[in-house]
Amino acid sequence: MKYSALKGVHDIFPPDIYTWQRVEEVVENVFSAYGFQELRAPVIESTEIFIRSIGETTDIVEKEMYTFPDKAGRRITLRPEGTAPAVRCYVEHHLYNLPSPQKFFYSGPMFRYERPQAGRFRQFFQIGAEAFGVAEPKIDAEILSMLRLLFERLGLQGLNFEVNSIGCEKCRPGYRKALIDFFSDKLDGFCLDCKRRYDQNPLRILDCKVEACVKLRADAPRVTDFLCDECKEHFNTFLSYLKSLDIPHIINPNMVRGLDYYTRTTFEVTCEDLGAQNAIAAGGRYDGLVEDFGGPPTPAIGFAVGMERIVSLLKSSGGQHIPSPEVLIAAVGQSGEREGLVIANRLRDKGIWAELGYAGNSLKSQLRKADRLAAGYVLIIGDDEIASGRLKWKRLSDSSQGEIPIAEVYDFFK
Ligand SMILES: [Zn+2]
Ligand SMILES: [Zn+2]
Repeated sequence: MKYSALKGVHDIFPPDIYTWQRVEEVVENVFSAYGFQELRAPVIESTEIFIRSIGETTDIVEKEMYTFPDKAGRRITLRPEGTAPAVRCYVEHHLYNLPSPQKFFYSGPMFRYERPQAGRFRQFFQIGAEAFGVAEPKIDAEILSMLRLLFERLGLQGLNFEVNSIGCEKCRPGYRKALIDFFSDKLDGFCLDCKRRYDQNPLRILDCKVEACVKLRADAPRVTDFLCDECKEHFNTFLSYLKSLDIPHIINPNMVRGLDYYTRTTFEVTCEDLGAQNAIAAGGRYDGLVEDFGGPPTPAIGFAVGMERIVSLLKSSGGQHIPSPEVLIAAVGQSGEREGLVIANRLRDKGIWAELGYAGNSLKSQLRKADRLAAGYVLIIGDDEIASGRLKWKRLSDSSQGEIPIAEVYDFFK
């Protein structure tokens, strides 16, 4: 019988795993400098949490959620994104009683039942961050500068920052109405999804990728023309901070994001190298969501970074680092095998990556193995070496070689 992984999921193993680990390490360093602390939420939640937050009429909730009843008949969903669980956690544990802002980051698998295609997975990995308790646009700018630092540290180039403000509950109804009026005589030309969106959430028509819809909305009213005074000031201050921080950006008035909970600032980071599906990070404010979850009014902002895309960018730019053992111990004869095992153990105890050759392998094949592993050194140990108390060493990079007393081998690798 042959088994294979499910459609749309993927295994991650060496050498790719090293790129994943490097990204995670840089994320932790950069995010810590901005005061974000790690949050680990479960991958399963009550279905209701996602319907309430993401929105009943969104693609995620309508088509893409992995939802199933558990044995007690509760409706469970594999998390399709990380913001709703973070908000649930923040409210459930009364973290709003702690000093603001509370800043969290997380990484892990998310699940969406999408049609598998290049770069899209049903289990995919995201790194996300959420900051609770600050309404000022300063934190919006800090978040973008954190993302810039992250991508700079990773060595990614050709990045664009797109920003927008989609207003608040005060000014959005006016914009919604203007969109409904504008689209009212164009309905026939829209795709099926947009026809439905027209009644339920006309803003989402701005998100549609279908060419006919893109054309029909070319002259649609712009959200930035409908912002109330407070939203306008918030957006302008945010833009001025971006300028102070030298973060090049463009305003994209069509960027409304596909989720219901966003308010005011939305943003996307795109990368020219990735073609059509080029967003590598996206997020925005969700000033009303904590209250929707039963907490006190709490402004908040967050984003998610798609790991698969980052890793594929780093791989294509040759940024993949593959570690190799520092030493391979090639043993000849029974006593050599035993002594080699002991030496390897002591080296490992000091944190040195040591590999062993194995019984039945000739010295020649053990040396070949050292080459294939790109080991730094080979140590050769057999009856002669044990009798003389001296080991032969060879450095593979320049073929230099020599001898050292067995007792000094640990200092040799310091
Ligand atoms: Zn407003
Ligand atoms: Zn459409």
